[in-house]
Amino acid sequence: MLAIAIAATVRISVMGSLHPVQLALQPARDAVLVVERQGRTETLRGARTITITGPARVSGPGGAMAQFRLTARGGKPRDYLGKLQVRSTGAELLAIVEMDRETAVAAITDAEGSPGIPFEARKAQAVVTRSYLAGARNRHVGFDFCDSDHCQLLKGSAPTDSAASAAAMITRGQVVTYKGDVVPTLYSASCGGHTKTLAQSKWTGANIPQPGYPYFSVACPLQGRASGHGVGLCQLGSMEIAQHGYSARIILGHYFPNTVVETLEFTAPREEVRPNAPKLTVVPKIVPPPRTLAASVDTGARVAP
Ligand SMILES: [Zn+2]
Ligand SMILES: [Zn+2]
Repeated sequence: MLAIAIAATVRISVMGSLHPVQLALQPARDAVLVVERQGRTETLRGARTITITGPARVSGPGGAMAQFRLTARGGKPRDYLGKLQVRSTGAELLAIVEMDRETAVAAITDAEGSPGIPFEARKAQAVVTRSYLAGARNRHVGFDFCDSDHCQLLKGSAPTDSAASAAAMITRGQVVTYKGDVVPTLYSASCGGHTKTLAQSKWTGANIPQPGYPYFSVACPLQGRASGHGVGLCQLGSMEIAQHGYSARIILGHYFPNTVVETLEFTAPREEVRPNAPKLTVVPKIVPPPRTLAASVDTGARVAP
């Protein structure tokens, strides 16, 4: 059994595509924010909004995670659950939200799914999202991921009663692994009929989230126009397979041949998310796949005996 050390939180840079020079910050309803900037600490509560124009740190009382709303000029207000660090990078501000790993999984799963997608497809998206966050390395310096297409789309935290939050919770800790390593699983909107291997795609060198899984070209139940790089899970195809009654495991086995789904177990309480907290050791629990999965050209997935 392989032990994987993984931090309980991820640091995601948000709103970078808007190139903000100032940010409006407001606590969520009933939330209290502690704001540190220019050597001063202030407490923010109620409907009060402040404007951040330089370096700042924002958390809940005692350094806890907090719910807040952030707005940059030209963008929609976004609600986050986490801790905010604002840095100055030349003329622009860099906003980094440190959030619980599972909060990020739910948020990205929410941003990546249209309202009506089948729940099993939603679960498959949650697992590939978590796998990406756990397996992708060296995407950025000073934080882990950005919220754009470069890394993974994120529009703010998912409502707790959303299907995305439920999908994240039900698949909690589940990741796709290959030869004992977490695969930073790629996905695209629509493959057009067949997914691509890494070699067939335009992906090169530093853009590939390490470590290496070769990917496979598998038949997709949906033909038509391709949208995206076509490597890994096809979101439209995944919805189609789910609509035929197949589970998230079947979908994952179809688009990621030769992989298994394993469950990462957090061995320390999730509340321990102070800055500079030691990394948590995560011991993957081997979940043997109940069936062998193989690709076929008709339904997209079938179960081998
Ligand atoms: Zn990025
Ligand atoms: Zn497809």
